[in-house]
Amino acid sequence: MIIVMKNQATEKQIEDVIHWIESVGYKAHPSIGVERTIIGAVGDNRDKGILKYAESLPGVEKTMPILKPYKLASRESHEGNTVVSVGPIKIGGPEFVVIAGPCAIESEEQLLESAYVAIKGGAQILRGGAYKPRTSPYSFQGMEEEGLKVLNKVSVKTSLPTVTEVVNPADVDLVESYADMLQIGARNTQNFALLKEVGHSKKPVLLKRGMMTTIEELLMSAEYILSSGNPNVILCERGIRTFETATRNTLDLSAVPVLKGLTHLPVIVDPSHAAGHWQYVIPLSRAAAAVGADGLIVEVHPQPEKAVSDGMQSLKPEKFYQLMDELRAITTAMRH
Ligand code: PEP
Ligand code: MN
Repeated sequence: MIIVMKNQATEKQIEDVIHWIESVGYKAHPSIGVERTIIGAVGDNRDKGILKYAESLPGVEKTMPILKPYKLASRESHEGNTVVSVGPIKIGGPEFVVIAGPCAIESEEQLLESAYVAIKGGAQILRGGAYKPRTSPYSFQGMEEEGLKVLNKVSVKTSLPTVTEVVNPADVDLVESYADMLQIGARNTQNFALLKEVGHSKKPVLLKRGMMTTIEELLMSAEYILSSGNPNVILCERGIRTFETATRNTLDLSAVPVLKGLTHLPVIVDPSHAAGHWQYVIPLSRAAAAVGADGLIVEVHPQPEKAVSDGMQSLKPEKFYQLMDELRAITTAMRH
């Protein structure tokens, strides 16, 4: 249920409504908009009739049931778009944000070089995995905590904020102590224990769509994070599994406008894991910008032929600079 406050409601009235919601066993999630405050009341669905009584409280304009199964993620529960801050960078606002870097952190030299390439191209955030969820147990699994230390060191040196994947609920505290944003990978989109754990984090979360999850399921996964208390979630379309085998996955670009209609959360696109091959990364990135995504996460490696993970889909520096030039032209054209 959402409780819409009158636009002249006082802070005290808003606080009293929050207390009342909690006194009847629900969690209150206030969203303070420019015009008015909306309070999402979520919890056990069985007896939500009681929330209707909020209409008799001072300062309340009306109550409205949210019909969608995802409540806090739905557009109804929030005025305007959510803008998520990753360090000083804002995702979901007017800027198209590019996150770039290697699939895996391999060494300090490799990550530092990648960071300089990211900066030269104009990317705002550095990516790099320290825990790699690999299809084969015999593939490189990541540098783990050593990798996180490298990530942090490079971030301090270059002033680039960072994102890295967390795969285990027990590692969330450790990963968030080194990185600016936590990534939930496609293989963990429905790892509910992990979603709840990052929901307790103060750091923003980049939630990727699973290769077999529907858009509604992705939003339900976001709901796990939001309802655990973390409002800073960015959604990422990274390709889904279809009958097509020419690309690693099928980039579902229609998910971008569909999500934009359903949720206030920012939506970005990962063309690298969708394509599986660097040649498709630039055209798919152009399409992602044109379709209205808030940004990209793209794999870039100083020497893709030597990469320990996902070298085939990683852009060389020169290709990355070309991509960034093309994106600037597209985003400029879109503003006119
Ligand atoms: C990654 O970002 O390196 C990754 C493993 O992505 P995904 O979870 O989308 O496969
Ligand atoms: Mn990868």
